[in-house]
Amino acid sequence: MNPNAAEAAIDRVVAEIERMGSHAHLSRGQFRTVIGAVGEEGQVDQNHLASLDGVEKVVPIMKPYKLASREFHEDDSIVEIGGGSVPKVKVGGPHAMCIAGPCAVENPQMLRKIAGLVRDGGATVLRGGAFKPRTSPYSFQGHGEEALKWMRATGDELGMPICTEVMDTRQVELIERYTDAFQIGARNMQNFDLLREVGKTRKPVVLKRGLAATVKDWLLSAEYVLSQGNRGVILCERGIKTFEDSIRYTLDITSIPVAKQWSHLPIIVDPSHAAGKRDYVPAIAAAGIAAGAHGIIVEVHYCPSEAQCDGPQALLPETFKELMVQLRQIAAVFKKEFAEIDQPVAV
Ligand code: PEP
Ligand code: MN
Repeated sequence: MNPNAAEAAIDRVVAEIERMGSHAHLSRGQFRTVIGAVGEEGQVDQNHLASLDGVEKVVPIMKPYKLASREFHEDDSIVEIGGGSVPKVKVGGPHAMCIAGPCAVENPQMLRKIAGLVRDGGATVLRGGAFKPRTSPYSFQGHGEEALKWMRATGDELGMPICTEVMDTRQVELIERYTDAFQIGARNMQNFDLLREVGKTRKPVVLKRGLAATVKDWLLSAEYVLSQGNRGVILCERGIKTFEDSIRYTLDITSIPVAKQWSHLPIIVDPSHAAGKRDYVPAIAAAGIAAGAHGIIVEVHYCPSEAQCDGPQALLPETFKELMVQLRQIAAVFKKEFAEIDQPVAV
């Protein structure tokens, strides 16, 4: 729409798009409103739309992902996690976010201790798995709803929003009641029913890149969530399968500038699952921020040898704290800032 197009003109265009059988998605930027018409290509009469009051131009978006594309939303999107019982934390644009915590929630004491330590080290969002996708059905699968309760109580006590993985459509309603953000794991990036289901909620979604997914596949998965009206998608590069076997996965640094050029969505990196080994985590995290990522999600444990899951890749709390000092410096070079919590709490 023209800058300063009247609300009535915007409403008219929305009504015309819906009348033609497409869905209208509004994106209000600083200067102008863009109206996305998503549907079958032949449905939209472009000449008719171009003739309506207030319309500046009609641009077909050639990319298969429409709402995720930069053409639809020129500025970086800013997504907020939290609100209600915990503060809101922003990610995207100039806002960098650090999500940290254990791989799996093992018991309330351990969770509270790690949460206090990562909060002290500079994390603003707490991670932890209640439902774990394990390669073997005989490995620890997570404590389920009990763990969600411990997560909620810990997040509320420390003023930290929480983020936890959802693996199945049947868990969405339950997890939504407790969490501030959903995590979609790498193995579920193309579980389209699950993407649609979290898309129907209004809680942000951390969408991990699939182990063998291209950036285009990944953005199409984001599109599933966005198409249901949930604007809160945060991309997460966590490493892909390559022929290299010296490391668990190869963190694809290049996907960060590519995804940022093609999409407006915030993007964070997960150095823990890429590395598989704590020695490599800090360097990969630093590289991710230097490549333009809007933050990290990282696993931390005070006693990794006792962890029920992913112990070898968990950072020790001291290393995590040192890493955050370095990441803040790198982020500053790229005009981004990690939020800080200033009130100390007992660790
Ligand atoms: C996790 O975050 O603990 C996890 C299982 O991640 P991914 O889906 O990236 O393997
Ligand atoms: Mn893990």
